[in-house]
Amino acid sequence: MMGARIAVIGAGHVGLVMAAGLAELGHDVTAVDVNDALIVGLRKARVPFHEAGLVKLVEQGLGSGRLHFTSAYDEAIPEADFIFLAVDTPPTLAGAADLRNIRNATRSIAGTLNGKAPIIINKSTSPIGTGETIETLLWRALGDHHPRPRLASNPEFLRQGRAVHDFFNPDRIVVGARNEADARAVADLYAGLGGTRIFTDLRTAEMIKYVANSFLATRISFANEVARLCEGLGVDVEQVIEGIALDPRIGGHFFQAGVGFGGSCLPKDVAALRYLGQTYGIATPVLSAVQEVNQTQRTSAVRKLREALGTLEGRSIAVWGVTFKGGTEDVRESPAVEIIGLLMNEGAEIRAYDPAFPDGAPLRVREALHETALDAVRGADALAILTDWDEFATVPLAEVSRLMRGNVLFDGRNILSREDAEERGFNYVGVGRGRTVADLRPRPLAVA
Ligand code: NAD
Repeated sequence: MMGARIAVIGAGHVGLVMAAGLAELGHDVTAVDVNDALIVGLRKARVPFHEAGLVKLVEQGLGSGRLHFTSAYDEAIPEADFIFLAVDTPPTLAGAADLRNIRNATRSIAGTLNGKAPIIINKSTSPIGTGETIETLLWRALGDHHPRPRLASNPEFLRQGRAVHDFFNPDRIVVGARNEADARAVADLYAGLGGTRIFTDLRTAEMIKYVANSFLATRISFANEVARLCEGLGVDVEQVIEGIALDPRIGGHFFQAGVGFGGSCLPKDVAALRYLGQTYGIATPVLSAVQEVNQTQRTSAVRKLREALGTLEGRSIAVWGVTFKGGTEDVRESPAVEIIGLLMNEGAEIRAYDPAFPDGAPLRVREALHETALDAVRGADALAILTDWDEFATVPLAEVSRLMRGNVLFDGRNILSREDAEERGFNYVGVGRGRTVADLRPRPLAVA
């Protein structure tokens, strides 16, 4: 289907990519957000976050006349045939997904529908049953005389930092709906894009998203548990991963030891699925272990630095990476931010650097930021690499060593070669990088 009229509610990391991507596919799209400043900026193609190719895509959309931004629901909803919900669903303290934004957006939609019955598609990651909740809220608000809007769930699998690429190159498009015709109508919005179409009911589509993220998180926590074993047993986890990743049943993606996963999705989605289990009386020991391993990877980074430096009090520690992963400015649930906080709490002085200069970081972290990776290491006792930006592997280690006062190098993402670092005199500490066979001195044979 070409040229549908679409409203996208929420113009954040997901909604903006969706809106600009759908406009590029030929649809007429209006993105609605309650954040006025964001909307004013977006009308001038000012994108407040780091996402490769997104500014250009927004500029193209604005230039084509098919992409519009507003903070007024009544400028978008009455005309729309399809309404995507892409508002944030942050975690509550207990781990449940907070549905306030979904509820508010649903009420605002109901208030402006004006007799029409578009398909409303939930793209926000939200608990199993949310589609039904939205339906109930709408029906209650609209009363019996209004035609009933149809609900669909179309979970989003994009990777932050590669979101534009992922929008145009999906591996699958999952649509859950009350009937196949509605599911197909939603899938047709993506006509021309590749990827397998999977049609399900509402609950199954919602479950697929949680299971996908929880499985990715499980792989990381398992890699980290293996890394701990490797540290104890004198084995290099990187070689272990290399040795298993070629097995197509296993694969190498998302199987990386380090300081753990973060971001706005994985931690909250594991927590939300676990919370659902709790409230339905279903034990989820795997999910609990995933969370526990992930949390202790962060504290083990602090322990390793403390051990290598003797104490953290008064030590100067350069930190490369503040965002939750390379390629984004996003610091939500960033392991780096938490580790920096813990190091500061033990009296360390932090000299940070991040290629994205993340505005969202806490003030004391932003105040510790330096202009370049080399500025940050000047006079430092230790360097800790906490985010996997490609740039960090290209900084000349000889220069780093010359500028630093000490020689401790904690590679929390295993992005450097241990041998290179040791050749330059660093005391290299990675994650799960016990000595390899080549490093082990031959042991004397016992003589009878
Ligand atoms: P975000 O915080 O970047 O953007 C959400 C936007 O929604 C904000 O701009 C906010 O102002 C707006 N908003 C909130 N309430 C609103 C309302 N009532 N009306 C209009 N606008 C409103 O969040 P995000 O990262 O884009 O995530 C959105 C959803 O997509 C979440 O449920 C998330 O779990 C899911 N998701 C995110 C990613 C990701 O990589 N970020 C990937 C897949 C799925």
